Amino acid sequence: MPRTLDPELRRTLADRIRFYNELGIYDFYRRESAESCVAVAKPEPQPELREEMSPRKSAAVAVPPLAEENIFEVLSPKPEQKIIDPVRALRVIREDLGDCTRCVLHKQGRKQIVFGVGNPKAELMFIGEGPGADEDEQGEPFVGRAGQLLNNMIKAMGITRESVYIANIVKCRPPGNRTPEREECETCSPFLMRQIAVIKPKVVVALGAVAAKTLLAMNSSMAQLRGRFYDFKPAGVRSNDPNWQGCKLAVTYHPAFLLRDPRQKGEAWKDLQMVMKELGLKAPAK
Ligand code: SF4
Repeated sequence: MPRTLDPELRRTLADRIRFYNELGIYDFYRRESAESCVAVAKPEPQPELREEMSPRKSAAVAVPPLAEENIFEVLSPKPEQKIIDPVRALRVIREDLGDCTRCVLHKQGRKQIVFGVGNPKAELMFIGEGPGADEDEQGEPFVGRAGQLLNNMIKAMGITRESVYIANIVKCRPPGNRTPEREECETCSPFLMRQIAVIKPKVVVALGAVAAKTLLAMNSSMAQLRGRFYDFKPAGVRSNDPNWQGCKLAVTYHPAFLLRDPRQKGEAWKDLQMVMKELGLKAPAK
């Protein structure tokens, strides 16, 4: 049963949130209580080299109160929510992000924020982990060698890069291309959630473990995450379209991982074929 708030507390919170909204503040972060943590018996073996997220700092994992009413979603509409035109709505999110200093990645050598690129009405979104050196240089996700491979994967699906939307969990390059920390992912991903709610895709493909685990809030191995669809709704935001109740999410390997281990390309192709079937796409004749 969803837990609802005491009406008095709800009113007080609503007033406080409205006050912050008027100051231009829309993002709120929930500090987990000690009771919302449970012990994890033992980490699973991680077979895929760097296809897994950095280990948690402790043996405790925060469990989001799924059944609890999301007070911030209910009471704090995002500024883009009233905007029908997705191009304008995405621009509002970008403006809200500003010259972001919300996590430590802003002071670790980033050249620019890599927001996302592609069709604002895309049926298909690809979400990676974070920008690398080429992306940081050019301000666009997936433009290096991994980007070339992603382009080839998209082409093999019978569509173009321009027809999809591509973004990352974190929008600033982690130094030395390290895996983004969980805290960085959790700080940055609300903006991605807002982008997804504006674009309203039919399918999201999470590229690699960091993207999959952040979007799904699951801590399983790639082997367990791949090979099926998940029902996905971006957390903490509401789409401006009441008919859009979320989308399907599939998990596949990150192209950078496939460059290191090309033997897995066949497995990734199986994942993409599942997505093609869902979207009614046909591979182009050779
Ligand atoms: S990674 Fe995201 S949250 Fe962190 S500084 Fe960059 S834009 Fe801001």
